[in-house]
Amino acid sequence: MAKPRYEGYCEGIPTKLVREKFGDINVFTQNAKSLLNKATGFIAAYDFTLNPYRGCQYGCSYCYAAAFSPSTRMRQEWGKWVIIKENTAAILEKELKAWYDKNPKNPLSIYMSSVTDPYQPIESKYQLTRRLLEVMLEVREYNYPTPTLVIQTRSPIITRDIDYLQRFQRLRINMSIPTGSELVRRDFEPRSPSIKARLNAIAKIKQSIDPLKGFLPKISITVTPLLPTLPEDEVAFIDKLKIADRVVIQDFHPSHNRSLVASTRQEAQDIKRKYAWWYDEEQLSYMRFKEMLMTRLPGVEIKEGKDGFGYE
Ligand code: SF4
Repeated sequence: MAKPRYEGYCEGIPTKLVREKFGDINVFTQNAKSLLNKATGFIAAYDFTLNPYRGCQYGCSYCYAAAFSPSTRMRQEWGKWVIIKENTAAILEKELKAWYDKNPKNPLSIYMSSVTDPYQPIESKYQLTRRLLEVMLEVREYNYPTPTLVIQTRSPIITRDIDYLQRFQRLRINMSIPTGSELVRRDFEPRSPSIKARLNAIAKIKQSIDPLKGFLPKISITVTPLLPTLPEDEVAFIDKLKIADRVVIQDFHPSHNRSLVASTRQEAQDIKRKYAWWYDEEQLSYMRFKEMLMTRLPGVEIKEGKDGFGYE
């Protein structure tokens, strides 16, 4: 089968046309051949990863997922394109059936998502993620157990799906909030939602679910990669993290300019220079922040790196 070629990112006549613009990003569509991928690396404890989209509109400067782009130019222009996997629901239905035919009593565990944000803005229009939740819940009709699910996002759009989320018996929501300072967020991830919007989304999820009628999800705040928080914001930020049952911190991935290897992009390396007061003694800054978390959040699990990304 011919490799898909994306207009604007390849020479000659593309086999897949730009469908439209969404904001300032190029949107492509493509049918996926498979959806559930064997989980490896820091999330190897799960059976599968699930990415409804390729690419991510948020285009965070440090995003390691850029390394898995279809071409060098798309890697360089991370954040300016997104590929919609149009047939996701049909493929997931087939893949869940294949799993439960072999393991009728054993729910699979899914990490959604490892290289995209399942609730990036275009989800508000295409609703691929919502449809996937629906398919996962439909297995109950055949008396199969609902999958164990972890949703990794930084988007308040997740609150749209509370009606489905509360039906998962084993759900963990990992909300990414790598800094407590809006100034820092705007430098490292200018297209992403505000810190306040993310915290409000978690509060809304917790307040909206009646434990007598639905299941309350476990909540992690992933402060990953740990970015600087300005001293004047630090205490207030950490106190707000009490809303979670787990807080995860992690260093930046190492940086290298290779495809298919998780790596921190040069863009983030350049921004780090602006925060020399934190990065000149990075290990010390990290340890200081960790100690503050442990002192101020006695009732919250504080985890680091790979340990923090498990469901349990
Ligand atoms: S939201 Fe996640 S996947 Fe998207 S660019 Fe940021 S770090 Fe990468």
